[in-house]
Amino acid sequence: MSPRRRPLVGRALAQRLLVKPATSLDLESIDPADTLGHDKQAGAVTLAATTDRLGEAQERLWASKAGAVLIVLQGIDTSGKGGTIRHVMGAFDPQGCRVASFGVPSPEELAHEYLWRIHRHTPARGMIAIFDRSHYEDVLVVRVHGLVPQDVWRSRYDQIVAFERHLAENGTTILKFFLHISRDEQRKRLQARIDAPDKRWKFRRGDLDERRLWDEYRAAFAEALTRCSTDFAPWYVIPADRKWFRDLAVAEIVAHTFDRMKLEYPQGEVGIESLVVP
Ligand code: AMP
Ligand code: MG
Repeated sequence: MSPRRRPLVGRALAQRLLVKPATSLDLESIDPADTLGHDKQAGAVTLAATTDRLGEAQERLWASKAGAVLIVLQGIDTSGKGGTIRHVMGAFDPQGCRVASFGVPSPEELAHEYLWRIHRHTPARGMIAIFDRSHYEDVLVVRVHGLVPQDVWRSRYDQIVAFERHLAENGTTILKFFLHISRDEQRKRLQARIDAPDKRWKFRRGDLDERRLWDEYRAAFAEALTRCSTDFAPWYVIPADRKWFRDLAVAEIVAHTFDRMKLEYPQGEVGIESLVVP
């Protein structure tokens, strides 16, 4: 148990989980079961309040069209990308939010350079896009399985930073979450998928082959997060063994980011404030 301390929220929580640009990240030093002083019961109250703020912030974004927001979720199988989308992003009006999932590329996608399929799903002004996996797969699964030569995937870190800079300079606020679970938690979650008839559809035998590559994935994540966390597109490492804390942490960081955007409702038409509807 961690010692009793004031739970971290907002800016302090975001700062703690941020991968500081231009520093090297040691994932082993981050406890996947950490809750930064929160407990489950009070955490639920905090999450509910933060979720309300998210809904309101999205309405301001939609109304003002003052920018676009891109949220990237990455993490190993069972880390909770889908659950995070359901719980946190459920705060948003579906009209202003799109989810894009990136699986094994189609032949058409493979015939293009790797960012082509990504760029089509980046958010329009006023919109939020949530990526369930992303262009980072092209330095993760592609690297671990050697799907392209090393010099090809190596050159992608700089390309990704350039791509994200381009988006950011053109009005997209980007935030990226790595859902960090322990090896043992993954074992439990995979086993649960096998054991529960209503979860079995999520399991493929190949998931066990991927699990054997745990260390290789760890190294690939560490390098991607280290090289591609920037002031304009920061990475956050979310301790995700406790699902309730994972949701809370992501919600806090998204809400904090919205606060920093200082979104305002647009002015109504001049002179309408004194109108009385007859
Ligand atoms: P799921 O998220 O469970 O639907 O699985 C999607 C699968 O697609 C995962 O095994 C990913 O590693 C794989 N995938 C995603 N992007 C790529 C990519 N660019 N190249 C190869 N495999 C990919
Ligand atoms: Mg899967």
